[in-house]
Amino acid sequence: MPDQRHVRFPRRGLMFVISSPSGAGKGTLSRNILDTDRDMTLSISVTTRDRRPSEINGVHYHFITQQRFMSMRDGGELLEWAEVHGNYYGTPQAPVEEALASGRDVLFDIDWQGAAQLREKMSSDVVSVFILPPSMAELRSRLTRRAEDAPEVIEKRLVNARREIAEWSNFDYVVVNDDLDAAFADLTAILRAERSRRSRAAEGIAGFVGTLLA
Ligand code: 5GP
Repeated sequence: MPDQRHVRFPRRGLMFVISSPSGAGKGTLSRNILDTDRDMTLSISVTTRDRRPSEINGVHYHFITQQRFMSMRDGGELLEWAEVHGNYYGTPQAPVEEALASGRDVLFDIDWQGAAQLREKMSSDVVSVFILPPSMAELRSRLTRRAEDAPEVIEKRLVNARREIAEWSNFDYVVVNDDLDAAFADLTAILRAERSRRSRAAEGIAGFVGTLLA
């Protein structure tokens, strides 16, 4: 149901960081949020990985060469970057700054190394959620069912998953994705609560309370 309230406090946007091992369902959950939440925009990463058949350049990622990646990284154009499964990934800084300043929230589908860098740089803006699979068997079966990666790539992702899962304790929230609807409801609840945090809108609230009590 859309929010019918007229009173909205101006606030800086928040950075909603969702991390998980590949196959835990973070992609689907992110898409569901973006499809249903008008105030959320996706941070489109740059990557040196090959494009999958289902992916569109400029929508899912900006697919770039390693040379271009290094030049963006060395030129300070990336808010964070990491090597994941043998490819480079990074978050272009300018669109994020722009969105936050205009009060829009930004969703990041990035790995734990990227999440750590954002926390370090912009801790008060970051809300981080770690998605866990219900079991390692389910993780394998989701990666296999997706059928978008070669078998050796899937094996590599499963090995890396154990390392990634160990990072859970650095996140603000942890959600187990054994039921997509329930996990989505959790994410929506987290977002809703975080958007109401006094510290994000202190000036706007003070102004409103001033007129309320006048
Ligand atoms: P995939 O290749 O499956 O799209 O993504 C592999 C991993 O890289 C996922 O965990 C994804 O969240 C992460 N990733 C995607 N974009 C970025 C980014 O800009 N920075 C970092 N640190 N990780 C990213």
